[in-house]
Amino acid sequence: MALYALDGDKFLYALDAKPRELYQCVECLCPVKLKQGRQRNPHFYHIKKSPRCRLYGKSETHLLLQLQLQKLLSCEETEMERPFPSIRRIADVFWEKEKIVFEIQCSSISLEEVSARVLDYGKLGYTVVWLMDDRIFNQRFIRPAEAFLREQGGLFFTFEKRQIVHIYDQFEVIVDRKRLRKSSSLLIDLSKPYRNPTLSWSKDLPHCVGKRLDTVSLYFASDLVYQGIQAMKEPSFALRLEHWKKLEEATFPKKVSFLREFFHLLHCGLNLLLEKTHPK
Ligand SMILES: [Zn+2]
Repeated sequence: MALYALDGDKFLYALDAKPRELYQCVECLCPVKLKQGRQRNPHFYHIKKSPRCRLYGKSETHLLLQLQLQKLLSCEETEMERPFPSIRRIADVFWEKEKIVFEIQCSSISLEEVSARVLDYGKLGYTVVWLMDDRIFNQRFIRPAEAFLREQGGLFFTFEKRQIVHIYDQFEVIVDRKRLRKSSSLLIDLSKPYRNPTLSWSKDLPHCVGKRLDTVSLYFASDLVYQGIQAMKEPSFALRLEHWKKLEEATFPKKVSFLREFFHLLHCGLNLLLEKTHPK
């Protein structure tokens, strides 16, 4: 479902649409019609299946999340379902003053799609902040899109009983697309974004923090970038980073020694085979 459709080449808001009229989906250009009822907000629906379309797959829960996010940001400067015709995209929630596009992700997505969205909004000068539903994301196995989004500052949210319970970041150790360790949730207040200061960082940061500092230009209090900044002035934060660096080191060498062991066995096996096939 969607709140906007195309009427010719114009974007049309659901409240301004006529019942029974045919319009086009903004994303897949398939025919859509208006739906409205006492209990539901007016919206457009696809009259035929269009499984590849992002808006076709958008559920009522997604719209509910958008509304709640707007409420959480507690400011009148945000807009829901803001269309950007030049890049043919619609932002879930847009915060013009801070140049932030919030994208809520409640289903799996491809790496190509997430990187295209980041690039498109980047061309207009906007930063995308991704919020991933932890019923789908933040599991042990990580798909390429999630790995990319975590480096881009993507956060998680917990949704229970039709409510966003909290939005959070976390320290984590990821090896070969497996999340081997994660910290308790670092609760985030999205209403206070900060721009990254220009500082020279220690090289000795946990990977999850170092990678984030290299990639993002925006951060929120308590997130991984904030942890890195605080560690430069507060010993308790520095200790926490040190702890995660050690955990990471304790996890990585095992992997290296396992690989070394594997190649050693492979080498021995091949030698045995060679000796058998070509006896001296
Ligand atoms: Zn569509």
